[in-house]
Amino acid sequence: MDFIDLKAQQAGIRDRLDANMRKVLAHGQYILGPEVKELEGKLAAYAGRKYAVGCASGTDALLMALMALGVGPGDAVFTTPFTFISTAEVISLLGATPIYVDIDPGTYNIDPDKLEQAIVALKTGDDRLAPLPRIEGVEKLRPKAVIPVDMLGLMADYAAIGDIARKHGLTVIEDAAQSFGAVYKGRKACAFGDIACTSFFPAKPLGCYGDGGMIFTDDPNLASMLESIRAHGKGSHKYDNVRIGINGRLDTLQAAIVLAKFEVFPEEMEKRQEVARRYTEAIRGIPGIETPFVPEGYRSAWAQYSLLARDEAHRSFLQKGLQEQGIPTMIYYPRPLHLQTAFAFLGYREGDCPASEDCAVRTFSLPMHPYLAEEQQDFVVKALRERSAS
Ligand SMILES: *Cc1c(COP(=O)(O)O)cnc(C)c1O
Repeated sequence: MDFIDLKAQQAGIRDRLDANMRKVLAHGQYILGPEVKELEGKLAAYAGRKYAVGCASGTDALLMALMALGVGPGDAVFTTPFTFISTAEVISLLGATPIYVDIDPGTYNIDPDKLEQAIVALKTGDDRLAPLPRIEGVEKLRPKAVIPVDMLGLMADYAAIGDIARKHGLTVIEDAAQSFGAVYKGRKACAFGDIACTSFFPAKPLGCYGDGGMIFTDDPNLASMLESIRAHGKGSHKYDNVRIGINGRLDTLQAAIVLAKFEVFPEEMEKRQEVARRYTEAIRGIPGIETPFVPEGYRSAWAQYSLLARDEAHRSFLQKGLQEQGIPTMIYYPRPLHLQTAFAFLGYREGDCPASEDCAVRTFSLPMHPYLAEEQQDFVVKALRERSAS
């Protein structure tokens, strides 16, 4: 059994994929060819945004978003420690400082109340309100932006986050790498924040066959700045460079692949809902295992279907039982970022983000994709139930 079955998807769209790739080979515009523009137009319309800028990865999307907003040394960027390294790595790469805000354990997403406490803690220099980086000069950092992450496919609470951000003058960058296709209060993922970022890494809900990503905004100035940053800070022409940029372009071939996949994407999103619904219905009654919580008014993109075991030993026990039946499981994520070696320089300690630390030792994910057959699913559930009772 595959954890994510990309072969089943490929078989269903084979002809479209072949035709799209052949078209690129025929016209030969491998860099920013017409497929990139076409995909940008389609995904902007789908997400309900004015502008979309294709880029080389979800990580580059976040990096370019921060560059376009002028984030740099002396700036504090608030984010969650319960995420993939990319979200915070780009903050440090630009010389800014990540400030970790703990999650709401029900949704795995940044807790808006704790976000406000962290902003006030930084502004007043009072780290009794919320843990701050234990670094010299922390009191001089300017609160600049917040990057909420739509963890596992479920969107963050953008209404609450937006209110706090406005009140304290922060810009919002939505990290929607895991949530393309999700819905929050009638609006889709990538519709939120000054800038939103997604990823086409193969395992994401809308993936390509390599690396790729996209950035969304409604601001024409930010959109043209992002296009410039994507191509080495180009000005009026390629060899007129007006700012420091990167090589952050989306390949035409990858855009052509995403175009083929996007045709079945809305249907796949429905299938994911059904797979998740069946899992939850079957697993809900198993003692000691918590199924995912989807608040009223949300639709998850189900990038992952993650459960919570009682504790770390219970999780290992369950995973081992599934493994013995040939069922793959994964852990997203076993170590929150504030405790990662790469961020040791920030001086965070165990206990600073207790909800994230608790989820990290208890969470594990089951096979999840739109083509998971009912029999396969029943097999997973049966194995979990039997192991649980043993
Ligand atoms: C995958 C992911 C990224 C990075 O995307 P890449 O395309 O792999 O660079 C960023 N943030 C989150 C939350 C992710 O899951």
